[in-house]
Amino acid sequence: MRNPKIGVVSLGCPKNATDTEVMLGLLNEAGFEITFDNDEAEMCLVNTCSFIGDARKESVATLIELADQGKELIIAGCMAQHFKQELMDEIPEARALVGTGDTRKIVDVIKAIAQDSALRVVEVSDIPNDYNDEVLPRMQTGVGASAYLKIAEGCDHSCSFCIIPQLRGKFRSRSIESLVKEARILVAGGVKEIILVSQDSSYYGLDIYQRMALPDLLRALHEIPDLDWIRIMYCYPTETNRALLETIAELPKVVKYVDIPLQHSHPDVLAAMARPKHPEKVMDLIREVIPDVKIRSTFIVGFPGETEEHVEHLMAFIEKYRFDRLGVFTYSKQTEVPSGHMSNQLPEKVKKARRSKIMKMQHRIASELNQAMVGRVIPVLLEAYDESKGLYIGRSQWDAPGIDNQVFVRENQEGNPDDFPAAEMAEINWVLVEEAHPYDLFGVAVKAPVKDREAVLQEA
Ligand code: SF4
Repeated sequence: MRNPKIGVVSLGCPKNATDTEVMLGLLNEAGFEITFDNDEAEMCLVNTCSFIGDARKESVATLIELADQGKELIIAGCMAQHFKQELMDEIPEARALVGTGDTRKIVDVIKAIAQDSALRVVEVSDIPNDYNDEVLPRMQTGVGASAYLKIAEGCDHSCSFCIIPQLRGKFRSRSIESLVKEARILVAGGVKEIILVSQDSSYYGLDIYQRMALPDLLRALHEIPDLDWIRIMYCYPTETNRALLETIAELPKVVKYVDIPLQHSHPDVLAAMARPKHPEKVMDLIREVIPDVKIRSTFIVGFPGETEEHVEHLMAFIEKYRFDRLGVFTYSKQTEVPSGHMSNQLPEKVKKARRSKIMKMQHRIASELNQAMVGRVIPVLLEAYDESKGLYIGRSQWDAPGIDNQVFVRENQEGNPDDFPAAEMAEINWVLVEEAHPYDLFGVAVKAPVKDREAVLQEA
C-alpha cells in the first residue's frame, strides 16, 4: 500500500487543536509518517474552522494555497461539517472530508484514499455524536509544558449568532475517570499545565451526572502529583456559580483566572443574542469569591440593532469592571443562524469603528493594570527562548496561551547565583516584574516567592 507522508495544519480554537492531536496520534500509531514541514508532505490534513466569516476565509485560503502546491487534501473539522458538498465540488484536490464527530475514522479514510488514487471519501456524520477519550492516542503539537484537555463536545445553548451547536452537536461530557486518566498520561509526559476546554466548560457533567460537576473534576485533577496548574476556559455567565468559584479559590493548583465570554452588557442586545441578561451579577460574584483573580472576557460589537446608546452602556461596563484581558470582535453575519435574518444589520464601517473605540479604551485599562504588577514576584511558566533578545518567554497564571499576555524573563547576570537561579525552561519559575507594557511584562528570575520588591532587593 502507498504510505504517503502526511503534513498538518490546525486552524481555529484549542478544541480543534485537541482533535488534530488525536488524529495525528491515530495516524502515527497506524504507521503513517507525519511531518510538520508541509513542503515535505504528499497529503495535508487541514483541520478547519467555520466559526465566523474571517475564520472561513482563513480556512479556504489555506486549502487553496496547499492545493496550488500540489498537495492532496484531507479536510477535517467545522468547515467539513458545514460545507461538505461545496468543498467536494469546488476543491478537486480534496481527497477526503472528515466531520467533527468522525475524527477516529481518520486512519481508515487515509488508508482508503492511499490505496485508490481515484477515490474520494466523505465521512461526515449528520449529527456529530462521537467524542475523544483517553483510549485514543494523542500526539502533542504545542509547547510541551502545557496541554489542552477537552472535557466535553458540543453545546446546549442557542445563542442567536452562533453556529457551533449545528456543527458540533449537543453537549457531551467525558467522564471524570476518563479525563483524569488522560491528564495523568499528559503529566507523565512532562506537562505542567492542563487547560480544560469545551464550548461551555461550566456546564460540565450535567448530561452524565445530572449536576454541574466541574468542581468535582477540578478536585480529581488536583490530586495528580507533578501537575502545577489547572486552567478553565469558556465559562458561561449563569453557570459560573458560587460553588464553582469557591472551588477555584480553594484549590492552589487551579489558576486564579476566569475566562467568561459575556458578549455584551446591554440587556436589550443580550436578549437579541439569546444570552443571559445581567452580566454584572457574575462579575461581582467572581471578584467577591476569588481574591487576586484576573478575568478574561470577549464582547461582540455591531450586533444587528445595536445603537450608540448600547455601545456607551458597554463602554461604561468595561470601564467599571476593568477587565484584565479582553477580546472585542465585530459581529459576523451568517445566514444559517437567527441573527443572520434580523433586519437591522449594521454596516462593516460602523462595526469596525465601534471595535476600535473600545480597544483604545482597553489599551489604557490594560496598561494601568499591568503597571500595577511592577514590583510583584509572580510564577511564570517558561515556554520559549528568544536568542536574539537573550530573553525567556513565558506566561503567568493569569495568561492563557495564544490569547493573553506574555512575560519576558532575563536571567540575572550580576547577583549571587544562589539568589538568582538560572531560569528553567518548561518549568514554573519565580519572576520579579520590573517593567510593564500594555500587553506584556518584563522581569528577572528570582529564587523563591517573596512578598514584595523590597524584600527581593534586600535578599540580593
Ligand atoms: S454558549 Fe458559546 S458555543 Fe454555545 S451557542 Fe453560545 S456562543 Fe455558541
